[in-house]
Amino acid sequence: MDQVQNIQTSVLKNQENLYWQRFKRWAKVTEKEWNDWHWQYQNLITTPEEFIELFPEFENEVADIRSTLGKYKFTSTPYYMALIDKNNPECPIKLQAVPSKLEMHITPGVDQRDPLNEDKDMPVPGLVHRYPDRVLFLITEICSLYCRFCTRRRVILEKQSHIDRQIDMGIDYIRTHPEIRDVIISGGDALVVGEKLLESVISRLRAIPHVITIRLGSRIPVVCPMRITPSLVSMLKKYQPIFFMTHFNHPAEITPEAKKACALLVDNGIPIMNQTVLLRKINSCPDIMKALNYELIGMRVKPYYLYQCDLSEGIGHFRTPLSVGLEIMKALRGHMSGLAIPTFVIDAPGGGGKIPILPDYVVSHTGNKIVLKNYEGKDFTYTEPPQWDCRCSTSASFKK
Ligand SMILES: *Cc1c(COP(=O)(O)O)cnc(C)c1O
Repeated sequence: MDQVQNIQTSVLKNQENLYWQRFKRWAKVTEKEWNDWHWQYQNLITTPEEFIELFPEFENEVADIRSTLGKYKFTSTPYYMALIDKNNPECPIKLQAVPSKLEMHITPGVDQRDPLNEDKDMPVPGLVHRYPDRVLFLITEICSLYCRFCTRRRVILEKQSHIDRQIDMGIDYIRTHPEIRDVIISGGDALVVGEKLLESVISRLRAIPHVITIRLGSRIPVVCPMRITPSLVSMLKKYQPIFFMTHFNHPAEITPEAKKACALLVDNGIPIMNQTVLLRKINSCPDIMKALNYELIGMRVKPYYLYQCDLSEGIGHFRTPLSVGLEIMKALRGHMSGLAIPTFVIDAPGGGGKIPILPDYVVSHTGNKIVLKNYEGKDFTYTEPPQWDCRCSTSASFKK
């Protein structure tokens, strides 16, 4: 707990008033400008020179960054750059946003261009239909910040490549497939598209009677929280039920701005779920993950999934052995509020979908006795009832 508190205090130190003015580049930027997403989008950081101007401390990395730019994109919002700790070459914010020459290394026999086999599960371009009742609807290739560990880097981060997407065809497919109950609008970042286009997609989906839930997949609350404006939220609010799927990876990302953005969504009836990627040197320690998940529930964001880092090309340096994730899950379950615990999953290479991974709590199961290990490592026995009839009278499958 003390360690958790330490992380929280060191995070808060970043948040002095007008904190961006400590950078020469933004010394004259007013509070109004900084907190306006138009300004953020118009002033994106996209070159190693701009990055080094902000952080001369990292001058020796400029050639490394340049060496990646022939192949990959680099873009960050000013807001996210300003969270970087200049005194820490392995700052978790920097590792997520700034290119590394390690990305040029492909682990032979392991790395894959399309590890989740998404391209093969696209009945129409840009729409992944893998599970029975839900689809992933990719409406853009653009992000306001390119995460260095992007799972879809073949289409998002690579300069020459993109998904051919046809939004109208995607909507037609959903309309003609009544088994689809849940549509995840993502990309790229679902919230970088213009509000008109976004509303036209959401409103057409909402008009389809068999679609129950619409989800928005976006890292905007993390990388450009000022984009969550009252007018955007009042648009979204018209099309309930909408769930917001976001992606915080480290407690340092939970700033007053991020809290404000999340509060605006939740206050307007839009629940937020968080999907964290387990990333080496960024959040691969139990105390970091605990601090992150406490911070998340503190702003009414539900930790939903913790992903084992997948096998996309050039991200081998972010991966952790499975034991690291299992140790983290062991340190969470039982030790902290169940609200704060995500499900640890591997998105199976080859397109098998998400598979949950749990530490082993079952010691033995013989006859009707099941021996279980609790979070303190103590054994307990549960006695099962006989294998009697458990069909519900109200179940459609029950025939009297
Ligand atoms: C993750 C994912 C979903 C959603 O899965 P849930 O477990 O329902 O959150 C749907 N489609 C695809 C292709 C996915 O990768």
